[in-house]
Amino acid sequence: MEVRNLHKSFGNNEVLKGIDFHVNQGEVVCVIGPSGSGKSTLLRCVNRLEEPTTGTIRVEGTDITDPETDLDAVRTRIGMVFQQFNLFPHLNVLQNLTLAQRRAKKRGKAEAEATAMKNLAKVGLADRAKAFPSQLSGGQQQRVAIARALSMDPDMMLFDEPTSALDPELVGDVLEVMRQLAQEGMTMMVVTHEMGFAREVGDRVVFMDGGVVVEQGAPEAVLGNPQHERTRSFLSKVL
Ligand code: ATP
Ligand code: MG
Repeated sequence: MEVRNLHKSFGNNEVLKGIDFHVNQGEVVCVIGPSGSGKSTLLRCVNRLEEPTTGTIRVEGTDITDPETDLDAVRTRIGMVFQQFNLFPHLNVLQNLTLAQRRAKKRGKAEAEATAMKNLAKVGLADRAKAFPSQLSGGQQQRVAIARALSMDPDMMLFDEPTSALDPELVGDVLEVMRQLAQEGMTMMVVTHEMGFAREVGDRVVFMDGGVVVEQGAPEAVLGNPQHERTRSFLSKVL
């Protein structure tokens, strides 16, 4: 995935001011930065929940900013997990996992259920297939949301602060699932405040501030020896 000279404005407010950014296949890139710096907007542009103002975004050779691009196809190739879990409350876990597979991937019931169960097992929740979201903890709901995204067989996963809404004791299980996904070679872009995760799992850390990429590099470089004052100032508040 490659982003070139991406700009995004909401009215007069230019939120992304020329972002150049890439994630290689199998790479885990963690995006950090202060509130309002444009991290979510960048992520949302990558799967076209937001329309970029100018710039290009290529996913495996396809320019997804091209008006001809099939957005449903883009979104089945890029899984997204949000801070809020966004499960359908009236559907049980299994139904949450099979719905999009059946609609967007045209899978039959048996295939969709088999894929769902495989991914529920992966996140450690095979025994909760018949539960409703309200019967699960926040951490379990977030793992279901991850399993749902994985059930579309995405080329890449985007995570937007997936643990920020969780009680502290539930954060570890979700990070563990993400760590395991990274080990399996999933291409991942992760907006996070979990600096330990960024340091241990990230191949690269990108620091954004004011709609630009200020600094990026290996986690030990960006987090351990930042070159820019803005990075140092941010890290002094979160580390
Ligand atoms: P946080 O860490 O708080 O999640 P962020 O880095 O994800 O922050 P964004 O959510 O990308 O920041 O927001 C960047 C700026 O864009 C903010 O000033 C925000 O008000 C503005 N913005 C985001 N979405 C919209 C929208 N749909 N309409 C108008 N302005 C928006
Ligand atoms: Mg955000």
